Amino acid sequence: MSTRSKLTPEERARRARIRMIETAHQWELGTHAGKVATVYQRMVRAESAAMPDGYACAIVLGHVQEVFRQVGQCVCITCGKVGPWKGDYIGGGVIETGHFIASRRAAILFEPSNAHPQCKHCNRHLGGNPANYELWMQHVYGPDEPDRLHRLKHTTRKFTHDELVDLQIGYRDRLKAAEERMREKP
Ligand SMILES: [Zn+2]
Repeated sequence: MSTRSKLTPEERARRARIRMIETAHQWELGTHAGKVATVYQRMVRAESAAMPDGYACAIVLGHVQEVFRQVGQCVCITCGKVGPWKGDYIGGGVIETGHFIASRRAAILFEPSNAHPQCKHCNRHLGGNPANYELWMQHVYGPDEPDRLHRLKHTTRKFTHDELVDLQIGYRDRLKAAEERMREKP
């Protein structure tokens, strides 16, 4: 029996984490954060798509509405368009992950209320569709949340490579779990 096969899952995970941290030290912190952000954004869509068939809140033509979606689908929060959570061609799919405050600042990058499914049209061509996004934020999180995020953006936060690796592992595991829930759909 090889040494490797005797390792417990915990020990294997601990060693994998150390290897990830060693690799990450070759990168600038900003580059590392960008790589983690990619996993985070994918996880945001996957967790939304893994919800059971049902209604999701979106702003449709300026009004709050409930839009029906099935497992594997996301609803654009700022127009109500429904599409698969995962793109099947290069450049991404119909649904992307759009940010209320489009900033790469560490203080806001992984803030849970700042990133949600959004269609490519709203995210890119309408610049995030900010008026509808703000309406949606106020409806879902309460009237103070947009201001809280704007204030948070201006605070100072700096990640270490160790912290970024731990975030990455957490988001990766949540992504895998969400994909598993979608596969288990009866
Ligand atoms: Zn949209």
